[in-house]
Amino acid sequence: MNNLSFVLKSFGCQMNTYDAVRISNLLSKEGYRPVVDEENTDIIILNTCYIREKASSKIFSELGRIKKIYKDKGKNLPIFVILGCVAKAEGDNVFKRAPFVSIVLSSQKYHLLPQLLQQVIDDRNNTSSLNKRKKKLHLINTELSGLEKFDCLPPVKNSDKVAFIQVQEGCDNFCTYCVVPNTRGREVSRPIKDIIDEATHLNNLGVVEINLLGQNVDSFNGIDENGNKSNLANLIKKVALLPNIKRIRYTTSYPSKITDDMVELHKLEKKLMPLVYLPIQSGSDEILHKMNRKYNTQKYLEIVQKLKSANPDIQISSDFIVGFPGETEEDFQKTLDIVKKVRFIQCYAFKYSPRPNTPAQKMDNQIDNQIKSKRLHILQTELRKIQDDFNKSCIGKVMSVLFTDISKVDSSFIIGKNEYLQPVIVKADKSILGSIQNVKITDASYANLKGEII
Ligand code: SF4
Repeated sequence: MNNLSFVLKSFGCQMNTYDAVRISNLLSKEGYRPVVDEENTDIIILNTCYIREKASSKIFSELGRIKKIYKDKGKNLPIFVILGCVAKAEGDNVFKRAPFVSIVLSSQKYHLLPQLLQQVIDDRNNTSSLNKRKKKLHLINTELSGLEKFDCLPPVKNSDKVAFIQVQEGCDNFCTYCVVPNTRGREVSRPIKDIIDEATHLNNLGVVEINLLGQNVDSFNGIDENGNKSNLANLIKKVALLPNIKRIRYTTSYPSKITDDMVELHKLEKKLMPLVYLPIQSGSDEILHKMNRKYNTQKYLEIVQKLKSANPDIQISSDFIVGFPGETEEDFQKTLDIVKKVRFIQCYAFKYSPRPNTPAQKMDNQIDNQIKSKRLHILQTELRKIQDDFNKSCIGKVMSVLFTDISKVDSSFIIGKNEYLQPVIVKADKSILGSIQNVKITDASYANLKGEII
């Protein structure tokens, strides 16, 4: 057992946040100490995102920034570790751009981290200080090998009321702009038993809300106890049997993969929250085709209609990419049209960012950045207006809120999330933390709702 400290910083999606908790637990089990002070630690671990150019360049500027802190103070550099999608996508190149990095590991190899760290530590201990400056131990493993890591990473130890469980990893859809099939590999689903064991563990820890994660979660096809492939709806039914788990969510959906079983489940299963995150990306069929999204807008609207017919409380959130290669003003207008039609209540909208080795990067008619910025601004203004309207429409309604935080501004206010993940603030005693309460909404802004417990 060693007693070295580590700082683990996670960037990007919920999958990375989930992985970060498990990596932290793995290292703690080996005797490493998690700390937050990046200026005084033995190990710096960056769990990275590659989805947009900005996200990956941020990693290298972060490395440079932290290195400078240690140099300026005349201190030995910590051991730098790069995990996640930048590790897989950049591979050896990480060492060229940042030679002081010691370990590069892709997402499916996290369980090897303790043994690689030990190699670096042994190497540092056995190297004279003169050689230490010259010698750089570069360890890399960016293989994609399916489910191995799930068997090796320890279950989460948390006291939170909300937890994530990864049920599926990778993607077979090959959208032309996306690096995920390269960085996370092809789709693999965990066996149902392993997921239920993890959910039971969380249930026993007092977790109230579980979010089942997958890059393409509707494609979940894990093996059940009889060795048969099972779908997401069956998995959710099993999770819903756990008594402490009151709320279930799933992320991220691929529109055309939502099954009739899932639609039916939204009608029957009260623990399933009525917010469906269904990234559409564009309102133009031509652009969807160029993106290799396997649905068109008509199909998308049909799926939304089916979901809303099954459960009229359902609301939709989404992702948008503006300025995809070849996107005309007319295409962009179609995106605005579908936004007005579906009235998405929460959205993420981004400018298209070309990623290395993707088909879209090589497409003609790349859109000028100024045009992208202008379209993004118009889209975000419209999305914001709809979100604002939806929030205001909640005034007077009674909503169910899971309270998890004390307000940092005024500790007499407690904050929670309702069915639609809207932050709800009430004046209350902190004894309500961790509980689900009925709240009458009395006020609303774009950012949050205010209310009174009834
Ligand atoms: S569905 Fe498309 S955007 Fe989503 S992870 Fe798969 S390839 Fe990437």
